[in-house]
Order: sequence, then structure tokens, then C-alpha cells
Amino acid sequence: MSWSGNVRAHEAVGTGKRVGDFLPSRERRLTVLSGPSGVGKSTVVAELRRAHPQVWLSVSVTTRRPRPGEVDGVHYFFVDGEEFDRLVESGELLEWAEFAGNRYGTPRQAVLDRLTSGVPTLLEIDLEGARQVRRSMPESLLVFLAPPTWEELEKRLRGRGTEPEDVIARRLAAGRIEMAAEREFDLTLVNTDVKDVCRRLIALLTDPQGVTTITNREV
Ligand code: 5GP
Repeated sequence: MSWSGNVRAHEAVGTGKRVGDFLPSRERRLTVLSGPSGVGKSTVVAELRRAHPQVWLSVSVTTRRPRPGEVDGVHYFFVDGEEFDRLVESGELLEWAEFAGNRYGTPRQAVLDRLTSGVPTLLEIDLEGARQVRRSMPESLLVFLAPPTWEELEKRLRGRGTEPEDVIARRLAAGRIEMAAEREFDLTLVNTDVKDVCRRLIALLTDPQGVTTITNREV
């Protein structure tokens, strides 16, 4: 495990890999952002899109229906179950998982193309997907987005005010499982401030060697 200042980084379980390892210069390492539902991943991604268009965010395929304001090909590629099956069977997805009754997956070729041409590349995916990426691309960097406290996560989930209590309870139960997986990740960013998290992510994506100085969890 390596610590530096107010920094928290952990050795990924079972990989023997330490933060700071990175690919030969021609190819960039893939960065994965994951964390419990309600922690603010999509807000972080929206801010990255707005402020750092040089970073390429993979657009996932999903069987979920679009929410108001979501654009096909921008936020997701919205497909039906049959098309999703086809993508899985033909090996076109780098990883995929089921989440809350819908399926989500990362188109493989688009990611490989960006990595080969040296474009900083980020996936925002769930824990199951992050584990698959860990297995298939062990050189990737897995970043865990954590809430400042468990109480804060609960407050944020309830604060949306849109979900009934049983749905909140299910998400909180899933959140507990996801929080328990934190140490499978290479490092943790605590989401106390969206702009701060984005700044640290950008540093990770564009300056992998600086990685040990940009996590932010107090030891
Ligand atoms: P939402 O429906 O709120 O947009 O996303 C639900 C969950 O699916 C989030 O945790 C999000 O990170 C995850 N997710 C989005 N795209 C992918 C993907 O391509 N693969 C996996 N494994 N999870 C994804």
C-alpha cells in the first residue's frame, strides 16, 4: 500500500499492481470510475464533459429507457434486449452487467481505438463491470468514488425525493456491498466537492505518473 500526504491509494487485491504502474508511452491506460449509487458519479461525469472535453468518456449501451433529457448516442446508446444479446454474443462488449433490472455494457472497439491513439479514456460503470475490466485489462486504473460518510450517502439518496422507501432501501443495501468493495480499487476519491474530484481525475487521466499525489482521503 502506498500513502502520500493526505492521500489514500491501495494495492489492488490480487494483482500485485501498484498505483503508479502505467502502460508504455504509446498507449494510455484505461481509467474506470465506480462507486455506490447516489455518490454523484453522473454529476462528476457531467462536469468532466463540460470542463474537460479532451477526455473521452465511453458511451455505454443500455436496455434502460431514456430519462427526460437523455440523448441517444450521447448519454447512452439505447437498445432493446435482443440487440443487447447480439452484442454480448458477438463479443462486442468489453464488459457488461445487470443493474436494477436493466443491462449496461461498454462497446469494446471504441475504447481500444481511443487507447491506441493515446486519448485519455474514462469508463463510468458499476462494481461488476469494474471487476470485469480488472480481469480483462489488468493494467487499467480503478478509481472508487466514495461519499464523505455513509450518512451522507443515505441523505443524498433520500434527498432526491423521487424514490419510494423500498427502492431507497434496495439501493442502500447495494451501496453497502459496493462500499465493502472499496479496497479492490487502486485508489479512492472522496466526493466532497465535484470540481475537486474532476481536477483529481483529470490529473490521473493526463499525468499517470503523478498518480500518488492526487487521491484525497485522509489517512
Ligand atoms: P443509470 O441507470 O443511473 O444511468 O446507471 C445505473 C448504473 O449503471 C450506474 O452505477 C452506472 O455506473 C452503471 N453503468 C452505466 N454504464 C455502464 C456500463 O457500460 N457497464 C456497467 N457495468 N455499468 C454501467
